[in-house]
Amino acid sequence: MSTQPTLSDGASTSAAAIRFHNTMSGETEPFVPLTPGEVRVYTCGPTVYDFAHVGNFRTFVFQDILRRYLKSRGFRLLQVMNLTDVDDRIIQKAAAAGVSIREYTDKYIQAFLDDRAALNLEPPEFIARATEHIDDMVQLIQRLTDRGYTYTSEGSTYYRIAKFPDYGKLSKIDVAGMQTGARVDMDRYDKDNARDFALWKAPKPGEHSWETAIGPGRPGWHIECAAMALKYLGDTLDIHSGGVDLTFPHHENEIAESEAATGRKFARYWLHAEHLLVDHEKMSKSVGNFATLRELFARGHKPSSVRFLLASVPYRRQLNFTPESLQGAAGSVERLRNFASRLRSEKFPEGASEAMAERAATARREFDAGLADDLNTAQALAAIFDLVREANIAMDRGEFRQSDVAVVLEVMEMFDAIFAVLSDDDAAKLKTLGISSASPALSDAEVEALIAERQAARKRRDFAASDRIRDQLAEHGIILEDSRDGTVRWKRK
Ligand code: AMP
Ligand code: ZN
Repeated sequence: MSTQPTLSDGASTSAAAIRFHNTMSGETEPFVPLTPGEVRVYTCGPTVYDFAHVGNFRTFVFQDILRRYLKSRGFRLLQVMNLTDVDDRIIQKAAAAGVSIREYTDKYIQAFLDDRAALNLEPPEFIARATEHIDDMVQLIQRLTDRGYTYTSEGSTYYRIAKFPDYGKLSKIDVAGMQTGARVDMDRYDKDNARDFALWKAPKPGEHSWETAIGPGRPGWHIECAAMALKYLGDTLDIHSGGVDLTFPHHENEIAESEAATGRKFARYWLHAEHLLVDHEKMSKSVGNFATLRELFARGHKPSSVRFLLASVPYRRQLNFTPESLQGAAGSVERLRNFASRLRSEKFPEGASEAMAERAATARREFDAGLADDLNTAQALAAIFDLVREANIAMDRGEFRQSDVAVVLEVMEMFDAIFAVLSDDDAAKLKTLGISSASPALSDAEVEALIAERQAARKRRDFAASDRIRDQLAEHGIILEDSRDGTVRWKRK
């Protein structure tokens, strides 16, 4: 973690106009950043009281696709992500473990960063830890007090929502008729309980607290993000994002805090990822229907399968999570990797085919058009799979030429700059996490399909591909016996 954020450079291209769905307007709008060529993004990070679950990572993968796409379109990017390392749950759990909140959260911050690396999530330009920004939060609360937006009660400071006429504009809650002066001390509550919320919480016996100019205590959750976003990104940022559950109260309260203090619009585009579900219910710690990445990896699933699955469903669609969908994702990644390896290893007749150059250009255009359309990853992927299918057919027919390789590889590289699954490094990633890579069992049908693929590779004398498939099967404990008549028998180890 550096101490000052700097912007990352992006590549430059000319392509389809980018449109994002803005929760504030409820519409899909053309994306125009405040400063041409530069995008300032704030993404709400995790509360580090435990390992993040795969539902959390759905939102973090969406944010990674967002940043990778903006960079690929040539924008310079400044993404700031917070780590909420103080809240009710952290205080309780650290006390139960008999350690400081710093010591308690350090472990989960490291785990979060390691999990991110396993999923190829690019590091944001700046990661801000809440407990290192207490002064900024106190100053923001003082600004709000100077402007008449706060009051105190029993040592806590509250935000007076009746004073902010725009309250509810993001989540569209109706505040008319709401009881003024009713307060809520918890950070998380629902729309039916919209109340004056705690900016600063009075200390409780035995709880960690800070001595500050506004008295002893600790910050509420919402002021953390508002203070850090304003500090590093300025009064108005381009994009603010998180999962849909953050719309209310978290983002609503961040708007109330920052706009009341600055008198300016806080964020120009609000992007919210729909939930990852299990049996049609939101994956969450409180329901208990969650899996951490490490649990999935220990069951034999690969980091690339998880990333692919989470990335493949457009972020505004709910994603029902099943082991079968992960297996399907693993198959898709294999197909793409096999294709990239075929491109690199097979020898094709000399020359170039005009049809393939056109095909590649279409794929490139459609891939970009999909992502430009509010990050429609499903459409972008369809463009790539169409190209893979047609190029494979052309190769089988001997119509694919050696000079087509570079053209098609370029499209695959463009794809991988966003999806980041082609590199065959799952085992190494698992090793870094200290997990041995036990592969999941394949069904008979999956084994038969891979054998058929290997036979086709052998027929076209692509021995690199056929060896790869043999190794892949061996990883799953499947042994092949090639007979003289060309048929293949297999058995499980
Ligand atoms: P938290 O650590 O609870 O603050 O959550 C971190 C991020 O994960 C936030 O952006 C949440 O909105 C998001 N999130 C939590 N549960 C899910 C889920 N089931 N599906 C998608 N995103 C989620
Ligand atoms: Zn936040």
